[in-house]
Amino acid sequence: MSFIPLLRMIAFLYWMLWSVVASAEIAEADIQALFPKLTRVGGALQNPHVIPVYQLDQLLGYVFETNDLTDLPGFSGERINLLIGLDAAGQLVKLKVLNHHEPIFLHGLGERPMIEFLNQYEGITVDKRVIVDSRHSGQEQAGSSTVYIDGVTKATVSVLVMNDTVLSAALQVARAYLEGFTRPPSVRVREDVYQPYDWQALLESGLVRRWTVSQADMQTQFPLDLQDYADAELQHALEQSAPLGEYFYAYLNTPVTGKNLLGEQDYARLKQALRPGEHALLVVATGDYGFLEPAFRRGTVPSRLGMSQNGLPVDIRGLDFFDNSAPQLPADAPPLMQQGVFRIKAQSGFDPSQPMTLTLNLDLARNHLIRDQGELSDSYQLPAELFDIQAVTDVKPLPLWQRLWLDRWLQISGLVLILLVVSAAFIWQHRLSSQRRLLHRVRWSVMLLTLFFIGFYAQGQLSVVNIYTLLLQLIKGFDIEVFLLDPVLFVLWTYVFISLFLWGRGVFCGWLCPFGVLQEMASKLGGWLKLKQVKIPAKLHQRLQKLKYLLLVALVASAFYSVSLAERLAELEPFKTAVTLVFVRSWPFVVYALLLLGVGMVIHKFFCRYLCPLGAGLAVLGKFSLFRWLHRRTECGSPCQLCRVRCEIDSINRDGSIDYNECVQCMECIVILNNEDQCAIELSQAKRRKKATADNRIVVQQV
Ligand code: SF4
Ligand code: SF4
Repeated sequence: MSFIPLLRMIAFLYWMLWSVVASAEIAEADIQALFPKLTRVGGALQNPHVIPVYQLDQLLGYVFETNDLTDLPGFSGERINLLIGLDAAGQLVKLKVLNHHEPIFLHGLGERPMIEFLNQYEGITVDKRVIVDSRHSGQEQAGSSTVYIDGVTKATVSVLVMNDTVLSAALQVARAYLEGFTRPPSVRVREDVYQPYDWQALLESGLVRRWTVSQADMQTQFPLDLQDYADAELQHALEQSAPLGEYFYAYLNTPVTGKNLLGEQDYARLKQALRPGEHALLVVATGDYGFLEPAFRRGTVPSRLGMSQNGLPVDIRGLDFFDNSAPQLPADAPPLMQQGVFRIKAQSGFDPSQPMTLTLNLDLARNHLIRDQGELSDSYQLPAELFDIQAVTDVKPLPLWQRLWLDRWLQISGLVLILLVVSAAFIWQHRLSSQRRLLHRVRWSVMLLTLFFIGFYAQGQLSVVNIYTLLLQLIKGFDIEVFLLDPVLFVLWTYVFISLFLWGRGVFCGWLCPFGVLQEMASKLGGWLKLKQVKIPAKLHQRLQKLKYLLLVALVASAFYSVSLAERLAELEPFKTAVTLVFVRSWPFVVYALLLLGVGMVIHKFFCRYLCPLGAGLAVLGKFSLFRWLHRRTECGSPCQLCRVRCEIDSINRDGSIDYNECVQCMECIVILNNEDQCAIELSQAKRRKKATADNRIVVQQV
């Protein structure tokens, strides 16, 4: 048997053994910690696997491991295994981390933020809609169907995975063992039920629901007189004639509502926009107080408008269906003040044949410090003949990675734009380098975007840890979903990988590495401060260059011995400190990163040239690059040495050839080559030409 399949088999057997051992037993001490009042632990129940706990004969709740119920991989590619206590009323009692490999918590922020994040679930019932959003956290009032909890900065993917893990596992247990949480039956919309209706007929037949909110309705929710709240929208609405809010809403999937409200064309477009099992809801307002908060962004979850069914929250998200235009409602519809189409995801368990409830989550500021909340709701049920209730299909929820891609569309789009600019710069590098100023502007603009947008904002700093993950995945069995969980890193790695085979490592190291940009900035600062630059002697430089390859081999080898050890050793890269955590970290890490940047002020890109294991890894792959795009002249190297002397990376050999393992594609050498006023050969030829013309002139005068 060859080596790789054998390794795979051993890893698989180990994983099987580990999972069996890990899930077989839950320590009694852990169960006791979740339910201190328990007097008896019951026998394990299967489907799903839980352990009931009792106080005498009274059921206190259930304890379960999330690994038995979910298969959501975390950022590390491994699941985050939590032990959860759920009481008999469906309330989360306590959560404990049993096992995880999330690098940001293991080696960056520490585990305290992770525990603090999970502590927020204590006391939340699984019928609540839990949204990770620090801006609203703690602002909801008792009885509200939505709970906002704080996220953890720099750990977005990990906390979203934890949120999904907790809710999906707890809801499965609640639906299986607790009353009032049973899953609604699936239904199918009957496409054959259709009849043309105008607006009035839709209203009269109950297909469109009208919901009027008067000033008095709203006043019941608030302790102060509505006039006393500092809310411009409300005050404007109060000044207008009553009612305060006039809303109409309708379920759009049924042809009789969808076609009549949107028209044939838009109804067909809507059906294309919806994924299998998804539903759409139209909400419009004609009054002056809208159902969307002023800060609502298209394509996101509204905080003012909510939905529930059978007491359980149903997630709705703006579909951005009409873009900026208004819907073409039937001609007799009233003029609209606000409109929106909302997507209801397949995994929400929504059943359109059952009553649905729309909620207005009202949030008014008394002043800068104090806010009051209120909630108004309205229910509506469609006629049963619109549905075929027999057809029960199990619709798979949208995978987490797809939701993350949808949520991070802005970061992905920004990144793709930057990559297009970089590609254009490389494709037209000769034209660009003939205009020195333009090249500098383009490169520095890209580099600043790399640092602030890709690095600090989108958290897109590649790292040698990604190389470990890839290699370990190849051995364990490749799962692309692990990489898709971070769309920014996925897009960036895909681009870098392709560009490595076209242009070598320089595309990343010279343009797209946030820490590389910090080093260039440090070097510029050193220049402005007129610090004397240290020139490493050629022999020592060549030896030091090899150091990064040795470090790469040592780090990758350590990953096969212990991933945790390898992740610790990867702290050699100051990326997590300087870019991911923006220097907010314990002082030894900060001092190390600053020290490297300090050295970079007198030795250009010191870390890149001698220490960076990622740069070394990219250089190894870049050896197979197809093109040597940086042009050379026959005179480069002999006799001219100008480019070699000017290259700050020292990546031009004495013979004028370029060492592409080291070159960062800054294009400074082709600026010299493509500008007659820069290239020494061009200048001396021009001088000779000028002298010859002057000599000719003298001869002519003498004649
Ligand atoms: S060598 Fe390392 S730090 Fe430098 S630019 Fe490349 S990846 Fe970034
Ligand atoms: S100046 Fe040096 S680093 Fe820059 S492109 Fe030329 S060879 Fe590469």
